[in-house]
Amino acid sequence: MSGKRQEGIPGSVRIGGVRYRVVVEDELVSEEGVELLGQHDYGRLLLRLSLAADPELRPFVLLHEILHACVTVSGGDSHQEEALVAGLSHVLLQVLRENPDLVRYLLGSGRRADGAAVSSPAAEASGGPA
Ligand SMILES: [Zn+2]
Repeated sequence: MSGKRQEGIPGSVRIGGVRYRVVVEDELVSEEGVELLGQHDYGRLLLRLSLAADPELRPFVLLHEILHACVTVSGGDSHQEEALVAGLSHVLLQVLRENPDLVRYLLGSGRRADGAAVSSPAAEASGGPA
């Protein structure tokens, strides 16, 4: 093991108006003693990633934890969350990777100068005829 190498993993991710820190650990174990590849901690605003995850798997694991954060900060019901997040993390990353035109379109519209997303409903509400 080469310590806590991050391989381009961002140090933080802004989700729903809060900034989660991304922490890379040599290994992650749940309170129940189960080995985890990633963990979302809303109370501490942490997304933990385990280096035990194969490097090819790490983007999926990070997106998986980001999706948990998205569900949590948007007040989602936790019922079926794990199954949805597990499926979506793989499908969504595949869609983003294999559709660069889509990603350019999505990222090119609705961005402020600092790169943060602009919420479009407010813009639409104030953009109509007077
Ligand atoms: Zn999960």
